[in-house]
Amino acid sequence: MSTPPVSKPRCWAEIDLDALRHNLAKAREWSGCELMAVVKAGAYGHGLEPMAAVIAQEGAAYLGVAHVGEARRIREAAITTPIYLLGPTWAGEREEIVAQGWVACVSSLDEAEDFERLAAAAGVQLSVHIALDTGMGRGGFLPDELMKHLEALKAMTHLNWIGIGSHLPSADEDRVFTESQIECFERVIDSIDGVKWLSWRHLLNSAGLMGYKSPSCNLARPGLMLYGVSSNPQCQAELATVMSLKSRITLIRTLPAGHGVSYGRDYITDKPTRVATIGVGYGDGYPRHLSGKGAEVFLAGQRCPLLGRVTMDQIMVDVTDMDVKVGDEVELFGAHIPLVEVAQKAGTIAWEVFTGITPRVTRIYKS
Ligand SMILES: *Cc1c(COP(=O)(O)O)cnc(C)c1O
Repeated sequence: MSTPPVSKPRCWAEIDLDALRHNLAKAREWSGCELMAVVKAGAYGHGLEPMAAVIAQEGAAYLGVAHVGEARRIREAAITTPIYLLGPTWAGEREEIVAQGWVACVSSLDEAEDFERLAAAAGVQLSVHIALDTGMGRGGFLPDELMKHLEALKAMTHLNWIGIGSHLPSADEDRVFTESQIECFERVIDSIDGVKWLSWRHLLNSAGLMGYKSPSCNLARPGLMLYGVSSNPQCQAELATVMSLKSRITLIRTLPAGHGVSYGRDYITDKPTRVATIGVGYGDGYPRHLSGKGAEVFLAGQRCPLLGRVTMDQIMVDVTDMDVKVGDEVELFGAHIPLVEVAQKAGTIAWEVFTGITPRVTRIYKS
């Protein structure tokens, strides 16, 4: 029996694993620290298992995930790098965390007591970090709360306190506040003699490690920069592009002057216009909010303007006077159209565009 034909993908994301390796090295170089590589949300839409596997090969101290579902997938992929849960846990997740030996950061006395009880019941020693809130307002002990509970925490016989971490809400926006957070973090570590008994001290995300030093830190937590995007334009040129979102022209026609293009007829041709239809839309994660915002795609060596609204599965671009044909490749973002430009025009951030690339988009890895 002959196998039925299978078409090439309509819309795909090319993911360059060498670029990931390059960016990991940059994160190490710039921070001077070991890395907790952040791979939450499917490694920012790049695909959790393949990215985690490369990061593990390159040697990271931790893989940082948002929750136990992601931790489980990494373990099922037989990746043995220690796994760190970046936020508070709720009671229904803790038994699994204790059984698997995943590393939680603890935000409250209640959370610590529950882990202590579960670890005792399982007969294990559980490694945990202290989460400290120096200004993010999302999790962690406030500094004076930590002081109040410190003795109780240290007295828990089934918990090994091996680290302390805090998070920066505005390292790419507010230098004065970020420096005050670093001071606060350093002051707390100093006052609890943390360098002596906490093996890991960590504060800096991508924007943090590109612009700041926190003297007692020996671990950095980069996410976005590993995927080739810098919130600091000066560092962008030193990072390598990891993901390129691509599709193909499915149709080319010349529309007469006065013809509407796409839903709502926001765009009306003012002259005869050669219009290419491309097989990508917001159903793939190409942001619908790009409609009418001057967005461009890269095609046949040049930029061409998006016409009218982004639809679920298709967009239209102006290819008047261009030498293009049906089947030609189109870059939506990547080496020629920076992701940051797409995010800005869509009124959002790079993180959201990456994590919005849907499962319908085939991820193609090259090393
Ligand atoms: C997501 C996250 C990071 C990574 O942030 P980037 O800005 O993508 O580098 C680091 N630390 C914590 C706690 C996070 O939640």
